[in-house]
Amino acid sequence: MPLHDKFGRAITDLRISITDRCNYKCVYCRTGNEGALYGDLPFADYLRMARVLVGLGITKVRLTGGEPLLRGGVVDFVRELAKLQPASEPLDIALTTNGHLLADLAKPLKDAGLTRVTVSMDAVDPDRFARITRVPNGYDQVLAGIRAARRAGLWPLKVNCVLMRGFNEDQIIPFGMFAREEGVTVRFIEFMPLEEERTWAPSTVVTLDEILARMAEYRPLVEIPHGRSETARRYRFEDGVGEIGIIAPVSHPFCGHCSRIRITSDGKIRTCLFSVWDHDLHAQMRQGATDQELADFIRSVVIKKEERHHIGEPDFVPASRTMVHIGG
Ligand code: SAM
Repeated sequence: MPLHDKFGRAITDLRISITDRCNYKCVYCRTGNEGALYGDLPFADYLRMARVLVGLGITKVRLTGGEPLLRGGVVDFVRELAKLQPASEPLDIALTTNGHLLADLAKPLKDAGLTRVTVSMDAVDPDRFARITRVPNGYDQVLAGIRAARRAGLWPLKVNCVLMRGFNEDQIIPFGMFAREEGVTVRFIEFMPLEEERTWAPSTVVTLDEILARMAEYRPLVEIPHGRSETARRYRFEDGVGEIGIIAPVSHPFCGHCSRIRITSDGKIRTCLFSVWDHDLHAQMRQGATDQELADFIRSVVIKKEERHHIGEPDFVPASRTMVHIGG
């Protein structure tokens, strides 16, 4: 019986954070400080968790962090993951990265069995990019990473851009041009209250409606039908060249179709980005649980998955961890 929560949602999508270290300090995510808070586990432990979860119906695994490419051994880990076989289809193995180290790793990752990559990039202007990431000279490296991923056949190639008012809302049209020129899907993400500096306010969110209105000034868009559990609303330009997506968890929540759970770098299960508690799967392993006992534990956790988030509501309680320590 595949994993389900008490609202009848099937859980098929797993995100594993393999480190909570990051080499970028993006203004919408981190403080300017270095360092991991929670640390990480040997790859063998993540692999065992993934194996048990694939046995419970997980068909997609996304590696994230922190910055997952900071972790030595990531290519071998992907190779081991690719040996896991869900019942019905090959395992879809994706990666979310800031792209800084991708240029040299794209081909080895593809050869090891990585299916897809999403690169986070929040400006198409080098100076603005440096202001947002608080890292000088990253822009050219990330662009090289995106191009290497395309050459390696990591497809579809998505570029995620978090829009934060006052930092990069003027990048909407330049990103439309970028999507057309580079042949990538650019996805704009509404800023969520998951940042370390607690600067979020409703007014800092650049909403789906605003993004669409701004992009329409550049070129007409046509909506593309999307799958129920897909997070992004998808649009192509009317002339057929270029695609954009908008992930709008704040203005148009999609919790009713959520199919995701997460494992943090220290081996805790989180059933929602906005969970106020997590569930220590790694502690079960340390205490000698069998695979069957781990599966029972996972089922007992997933059944309690939160119905929805409460962003912007008076009863909103901030998540117990920020994005970099959850794994986005
Ligand atoms: N380091 C990798 C990267 O940059 O893609 C993976 C981890 S990062 C936390 C995962 C994703 O979360 C990125 O696309 C990032 O832009 C997004 N993100 C981080 N903080 C966010 C926030 N407060 N609201 C919305 N998205 C956020």
